[in-house]
Amino acid sequence: MSQNAAVNNNSFPSGRPVIFRNATVLTIDPSLGMIENGDVLVVDNRIASVGRQLVAPENAMEIDAKGGILMPGMVDTHRHMWQTALRGYGADWTLTNYFQFYYLNWGKIFRPEDIYAGNLLSAIEAVDAGVTTTVDWSHGLQTVEHADAAVDALEAVPGRFVLAYGNLLGAPWEWTKAPEFADFIRRRIDGRGDMLGMQLAFDVTGDPAFPEKAAFEVARDFNLPVTTHAGVRGATNDNGIRLMHEHGFMTPSTIYVHAATLSEDSYHRIAATGGYTSVSTESEQNAGQGYSPTWLLRRHNIPVSLSMDTSVWWSADLFSAMRATLSADRGREHLEAHRRDETVMLSHLRAEQVVNWATLGGAQALDMASFIGSITAGKKADLVLIKNDYSPVMFPLLHPYGHIVFQAGRGDVHTVMVDGKVLKYDHQLLGIDLNRARQAIAKTVEYARSKMGEQAWNEGMNPEKAEVEFIENPYTYTERGKAAQKQSGQ
Ligand SMILES: [Zn+2]
Repeated sequence: MSQNAAVNNNSFPSGRPVIFRNATVLTIDPSLGMIENGDVLVVDNRIASVGRQLVAPENAMEIDAKGGILMPGMVDTHRHMWQTALRGYGADWTLTNYFQFYYLNWGKIFRPEDIYAGNLLSAIEAVDAGVTTTVDWSHGLQTVEHADAAVDALEAVPGRFVLAYGNLLGAPWEWTKAPEFADFIRRRIDGRGDMLGMQLAFDVTGDPAFPEKAAFEVARDFNLPVTTHAGVRGATNDNGIRLMHEHGFMTPSTIYVHAATLSEDSYHRIAATGGYTSVSTESEQNAGQGYSPTWLLRRHNIPVSLSMDTSVWWSADLFSAMRATLSADRGREHLEAHRRDETVMLSHLRAEQVVNWATLGGAQALDMASFIGSITAGKKADLVLIKNDYSPVMFPLLHPYGHIVFQAGRGDVHTVMVDGKVLKYDHQLLGIDLNRARQAIAKTVEYARSKMGEQAWNEGMNPEKAEVEFIENPYTYTERGKAAQKQSGQ
């Protein structure tokens, strides 16, 4: 017990085994389940053993996890990390406002250094919140210099990342064919092992000519999974799914983001070809891609992973994703039942399932479950300790899965380990330069604001407000009601 973890000079002693002691361990491994008063020993970058009162090597560092929950690192399968540069700017947007801003007007002004700034801050945010693996759905890559900048940022933070290469300003059948694209894969991705993966990110418009075919062929040639916004009201629909299916491009590695407004037939095609969905409930509910679809996906036996989409609206922590997803699923079950004049007597979706989606589900979606996603001996050590001795919300700890989903938050993330390295301990990031991100972000915000001009900047952030139409009331409105009506311009 003399080896209690001590942090000096903002770093955790490296090269020594680490043992987490006395945690409620949510292994997410079906054969192990939950272990109370559990220990997890990490040697080098792997989980060496999981159990109770483990014997640790003499030189092991001990992390006192009593009162806390130890879980696998969370996995976000869809996040536009570059957009973190304008964190919160789009709080009042719809999807239409988003498209107008990035696709039609201002996406083109983002320079490589702006991609770098957004990615750097987003990568730090991910690690801080216990998201140990993040897919960077990077559709701001107008040039390979932008892509280099994206990867530079991902390499500056020792989390696990997957670059989903995209370009919202270009045609995927063109940019995937460019020689510099193939060269980029050789230079930046090949040989990086499991810390930096790659996917191809593009959408399928439903054009009967199926021009995306060439991009799918490139993906197949390079053995890259395709991740695509599917079932997004006003953007992509069943035609895209049908074309992909008819041409043989729906595979177990395909990820369907949102999958919110699709027909039964499209869900059947997804289920039959083994792909994964990435559900971003906060996004679907605010932006309007469609209703968060897990209540339907469960019935179709389509596997689910979770995501936060973009910090231009929401913070990128999966506590929010889990809570929003469970609430949306149950809310829909109730609504559907009430429409039939029935009452839901038992909840279908359980907190445990949602924690599973946020961890193992994400790992499976990315074909990484052989080495992350659960606390299993032999897997890479990507671990999160939820523990906060200063919080009135951390006790009593009666239903640990429910506690994660409905009680805990990012402020309760005590320790984060990725690939066996402690990147956060006792609520403090270690060896991560937040100031560098702060300075880079400040430059990007200043640049974007001056490039757009004050008027466009303000109008972009504050889109015109939809008017509230008061419902005709057969009784008489009170004076207060009349005043409110007047104020809203009715
Ligand atoms: Zn998206």
